[in-house]
Amino acid sequence: MRHNLARARQCAPAAKAWAVVKADAYGHGLAAAMQGFEAADGLALIEFEQASRLRALGWDKPILMLEGAFDSEDVQTACDLNLSLVVHQPLQIDWLERRDGSRQIAVFLKYNSGMNRLGFETQEFKMAYARLLKADVVRSISLATHFANSDLPGGADDALMRFDEASRGLTGERCLSNSAAVLAVPRAHRDAVRPGIMLYGATPFADRSAAQLELQPAMQLRSRLIAVRRLSIGDSVGYGSTFVADKPMRIGVVACGYADGYPRHAPTGTPIAVEGLRTRTLGRVAMDMLMVDLDPVGTVDVGASVELWGQRVPIDEVAQSAGTIGYELMCALAPRVPRKVIG
Ligand SMILES: *Cc1c(COP(=O)(O)O)cnc(C)c1O
Repeated sequence: MRHNLARARQCAPAAKAWAVVKADAYGHGLAAAMQGFEAADGLALIEFEQASRLRALGWDKPILMLEGAFDSEDVQTACDLNLSLVVHQPLQIDWLERRDGSRQIAVFLKYNSGMNRLGFETQEFKMAYARLLKADVVRSISLATHFANSDLPGGADDALMRFDEASRGLTGERCLSNSAAVLAVPRAHRDAVRPGIMLYGATPFADRSAAQLELQPAMQLRSRLIAVRRLSIGDSVGYGSTFVADKPMRIGVVACGYADGYPRHAPTGTPIAVEGLRTRTLGRVAMDMLMVDLDPVGTVDVGASVELWGQRVPIDEVAQSAGTIGYELMCALAPRVPRKVIG
């Protein structure tokens, strides 16, 4: 995490860095992330309970709530805990206007630059800004947007143009860039960036690996072989018998399945490592187990260490094999998996 944050800073040296820790730090654990991102200028997330936890754990630098307040009580919490709020719709401004200026907070006014999810359109953006200027509870106004396509070449161009047009003449720090824009769109860096996925060592791009981006995996998912057996020609493996041996072979049974967050959609051939050597999964992933081909691995036995993803097997490769992205696998790590924080 430290390395990856330093890498984000190297990409955007003049910008402040918000480390995004939503969804329990993309499944890595909030407390661990708080330590790993000690050097960040602030932490950004969605969940108010987790923001309270960060304050209780001693994080006294800024915290940015990426979807802002969900109700007026959240505005109260924001004032009590000094949380910065994204403002993406008029109702949130109503809640702010009802408060006095005894405890002021920073707000980030969000512009809809083409995602068509959250944020104000050009005309309303200026009106919202004017309302926030007059609200006593508002200490400062920053201007933000979120890119729909910054992972594609030129994909942020149109959004940037629209944002610059809509925000012309408005003062305030600009905060636009997710990981893909941090890595690939220097002119979007502006005053502050919001990297997420890159800080955990996965790639935001379909065609560039985390290693090529000089990122290091923050998470390693490990288990062991709990059984080893031989297959004869014609023997099948697992539910539905989707894999059938076409030669005599040795296979291993790994204590990890979809109840641990390993994707059930990962087909035969998904990369996995046994005792540090890469091989492939065989057959359907079950709730608590999956099977591996031991032929490329040699003489290993019950108890052999297995890496589901991490150093030897990039999470992005497992994700691609399962038809998803590294983000989803990280976030889906199940509570029953014992966690150990290293470093
Ligand atoms: C999740 C999120 C980010 C981080 O995105 P990555 O692609 O993980 O870098 C940045 N900004 C907002 C508003 C987000 O919701």
